[in-house]
Amino acid sequence: MNFKIKLFLGVFITLLFCSFQFTNLPSQVACKKVKERSIKSEFIVVLVIDGPRFSETFGDTSYSYIPNLAKDLAPQGVLVKNFKNKGVTLTNSGHTAITTGTYQNVKNDGAELPKNPSIFHYYLSQVNSDVSKTWVIASKGKLDILAQTTNKTWKDSLKPSVYCGIDGKGGGYAKDDKTFEAILALFSEHHPKLSLINLLEVDVKGHANDWEGYLQAIRNTDVYAKRLWDFIQSDSILKGKTTLFITNDHGRHKNGHKDGFVSHGDMCSGCRDIYLIALGPDFKVNSVIDEKYEQLDLSKTISYMFNFNMPSSKGKIMEALFK
Ligand SMILES: [Zn+2]
Ligand SMILES: [Zn+2]
Repeated sequence: MNFKIKLFLGVFITLLFCSFQFTNLPSQVACKKVKERSIKSEFIVVLVIDGPRFSETFGDTSYSYIPNLAKDLAPQGVLVKNFKNKGVTLTNSGHTAITTGTYQNVKNDGAELPKNPSIFHYYLSQVNSDVSKTWVIASKGKLDILAQTTNKTWKDSLKPSVYCGIDGKGGGYAKDDKTFEAILALFSEHHPKLSLINLLEVDVKGHANDWEGYLQAIRNTDVYAKRLWDFIQSDSILKGKTTLFITNDHGRHKNGHKDGFVSHGDMCSGCRDIYLIALGPDFKVNSVIDEKYEQLDLSKTISYMFNFNMPSSKGKIMEALFK
């Protein structure tokens, strides 16, 4: 065999091998070393607490406002302190980054849809098409955009179930206690395989320039996070098989920058710096990691765990979370 033919065959076989991997394994595995592991999680929940500043969460080492997150939940899993929103630090863009794995400047009033398909679209088309098993549950009605996309291939295809805003009807802002009631009812009935939850009170009190209310709202969402994890561990179906990610869509301006904690939306570190807690049977325990991860990485990590391809996500698998 002459050299050219050998070279051609070599390249051909390599490409064939890569494409074989691409079609049979999660896309992110293709031709890239990812440790082989068997994933135990059968359910994944992403809880997004809307808009606390890192300086009032894990940046405050007395953990005054997040006793449950800091002293009970995070020690049961992994805390990523260097977690960031590197895109537009507004609610709809931040949530879109989490679900689609791309940073897009999405109008923040609910009038614009994500361009790219989300974890829900890929999951429904590749793993389980039962829409009652995927949910977007949000205090903010405008977050029903997360169930949709303008992408032509996916526009009219399967969408996750939605309970957003007042009475879950997609409009207005519901109080977090109402949303939390809905979460417990929907989880008890459907046991969603993949869901995203948004709680709004921290952000609303911040915008109202109510410092004490803002701090109290951080405490309140801290309690909701704990109650959600306790509920999961008390449910016979979800217990021991559920991953819970707790994170934020964005922070808020630093003190002394613009109007400080009242607003957010630019590139200051106060707006960018957020946290991620990863809890569940596949993750390390009592671990605080220094790896730099960002919102995009959630989608890729979820697609890896649930074994579906997500080619449009620009994130990476957060290897350091896993046991
Ligand atoms: Zn806001
Ligand atoms: Zn800012």
